[in-house]
Amino acid sequence: MRRIVLASRPEAEPGPENFRLEEAPLPEPAEGEALVRVRWLSLDPYMRGRMSAGPSYAAPVGIGETMTGQGVGEVIASRAEGLAAGDTVLGSFGWADHGCAPARELRKLDARLPPATALGVLGMPGFTGWVGLTEHGRPQPGETLVVAAATGPVGSMVGQLAKALGLRAVGIAGGEEKCRLATETFGFDACLDHRAHAEARSLRRALAEAAPDGIDIYFENVGGKVLEAVIPLMNDFGRIPLCGTIAWYSGDEGGPDRLPTLWRSVLVKRLSVRGFIVTDHWDRIGDFLAEVAPKVASGEIRYLEDVTEGLENAPDAFLKMLGGGNTGKTLVKLP
Ligand code: NDP
Repeated sequence: MRRIVLASRPEAEPGPENFRLEEAPLPEPAEGEALVRVRWLSLDPYMRGRMSAGPSYAAPVGIGETMTGQGVGEVIASRAEGLAAGDTVLGSFGWADHGCAPARELRKLDARLPPATALGVLGMPGFTGWVGLTEHGRPQPGETLVVAAATGPVGSMVGQLAKALGLRAVGIAGGEEKCRLATETFGFDACLDHRAHAEARSLRRALAEAAPDGIDIYFENVGGKVLEAVIPLMNDFGRIPLCGTIAWYSGDEGGPDRLPTLWRSVLVKRLSVRGFIVTDHWDRIGDFLAEVAPKVASGEIRYLEDVTEGLENAPDAFLKMLGGGNTGKTLVKLP
């Protein structure tokens, strides 16, 4: 089998030198386990965090260890009750073309939906958008929501759910084409291209026009310039589900200290800022799937995928995604 291991830790921005492709013996399933041939590998922003050794909510990947990640594949040998060769399953196999796991860590997939949806719109990222918005955003009809990375699997779920609940949804995305997709494919009322605004101040002016009644919910995916633009436009009692800060995953860009302004805004506007990690909410995945899977099947909830072929190309696809070069859920298709 082939796998990609962490070769070294990045100092700041990661590069291809931080990864290495290796051959390894095919694992043998122990009692209760199944061996899976991976067909789809998910690449997600959180993996950048696992490359660094600093303290976080999850342990880092060790040097020489397989990069962590979820995949979808087919069972090729099983010593587990309830799983048979040919079953399509979701599991954490890492960046590898085969993986072994106990049956309790594998989920058999509904054959009526394309299997890769279990990694995106109906997987961890889609669920993150759903749980973050409904539990921590507490959306009300007529309110205004802003979310960046608007065409990605988290942002596009948040925007579509917000629209269906009767909110005004303003997206922020990198480039004109992504902004067009945000409004035409995902139904955002407006979308702003953050790349067209070098300064937070200029982005803020554009946002003030797109959100004339102020912002009630800022679903935080990126931090950086977008956060700086949004804060002064937040309405009293606004909510900020704090999901990710991808602009800072490889260190912040320095610049003036805006912490006092930010903190004072939280106080005077009585904002609720709620950091959350999706794995704390896993008990609600069934509710999410019951509500959203039929809407994906009917086309009411839409999604985009950005597919790269071949395990050896996973590092490049991952690095491209961190820089915004993806459009939709980043996936690697294995032969
Ligand atoms: P995406 O597929 O949307 O990919 C990341 C996107 O981030 C890029 O495409 C780019 O979009 C945007 N981006 C990157 N750098 C910047 C920047 N400097 N400023 C503005 N935007 C930037 O990712 P996901 O939908 O999978 O994830 C979105 C966020 O949610 C991430 O921060 C992720 O870490 C977080 N997350 C958190 C979870 C949790 O449990 N808390 C679980 C899952 C995800 P564009 O080109 O449009 O700007």
